[in-house]
Amino acid sequence: MNATITLPDPETMYQAIVDRDGEMEGLFLFAVKTTGIFCRPGCKSKAPKRENVEFFANADQARAAGYRPCKRCRPTELSGSVPAWLTQLVDAMDADPTRRWTNADLAAMGLSPVRVRRWFQQHYRMTFHAYLRTRRIGLAVDMLQRGSDVTSVALDSGYESLSGFRDSLRKWTGQSPTSIKQGEPILVERLLTPLGPMLAAASDAGLCLLEFADRKMLPEQFERISKLFQQPILPGTHPVLKRTAEQIEQYFAGERTEFTLPLRLDGTSFQQTVWKKLLEIPYGQTSSYGKMADELGKPTASRAVGRTNGDNRLAIVVPCHRVVRSDGHLCGYAGGLWRKRWLLEHERKHLSL
Ligand SMILES: [Zn+2]
Repeated sequence: MNATITLPDPETMYQAIVDRDGEMEGLFLFAVKTTGIFCRPGCKSKAPKRENVEFFANADQARAAGYRPCKRCRPTELSGSVPAWLTQLVDAMDADPTRRWTNADLAAMGLSPVRVRRWFQQHYRMTFHAYLRTRRIGLAVDMLQRGSDVTSVALDSGYESLSGFRDSLRKWTGQSPTSIKQGEPILVERLLTPLGPMLAAASDAGLCLLEFADRKMLPEQFERISKLFQQPILPGTHPVLKRTAEQIEQYFAGERTEFTLPLRLDGTSFQQTVWKKLLEIPYGQTSSYGKMADELGKPTASRAVGRTNGDNRLAIVVPCHRVVRSDGHLCGYAGGLWRKRWLLEHERKHLSL
């Protein structure tokens, strides 16, 4: 395998170290040649000189290069959780989910509104205020579906008037309170993995999205999914998401080689056939677009197979990372080539145990 690992570009990564930018958490680690220690991008230790810095995709690689983990930022532990500077706000949001936060409120907590906005944009792909709004809507939808009446839901979820609530609901979910009472929303939650945070979305019908949170296409994916399933997407939790989080954790620990989750593979019949074919590639093994096309009885369709592979919405669970070029080289992966390489190495390592 001689594919290069795709990390963010070195200047961006170095700037993140200098800025102690927690937003790059989970995307890379850096090591300092002069001290022999490796750190997370947000480490509070003195920023090293550029020429002494080496970048790694994960702790295994940094260790393999002879570096030791920093005792201060503990780079071998799972990253991507809510950073310390944000916990007070997140706790306050949990305590009173209907509260409307102004920039002055944030400043009073010692937080920079710009930084808060950036974090939410990075981790949820929406602005802080959009997050708060969808969260309030999420609460309202939950109450409606549990049988509460529209007026009390509107008031309990922080709306000043019934018409304001109806407008807001229609704007964010495309539905009226009555149709929401009957439908089910898709809930979206962050999962933490050694390869950075992922976003998972599910409804009672199953898991419909699992993507790395830094993926550029994510906003479009959200929109497509919302349209495809005719349901609003809201932050929240769901039993399917809990099971997904457990199984993904076991997968990364090398303890799980197959997933037992209800999956929503909605798409054209060709897409569904390709995605189901992907599910047949065993853990630790690879296939190619050409081979898949042959097996589907459509030897000329390898390009379409490749495209459909790229349209996979369920990373890791539907193992599109197990498709490589027929000469064995890695080829594109929506989550980044370095992740694809990491996943394949991870599987090979645990397969041989
Ligand atoms: Zn450190």
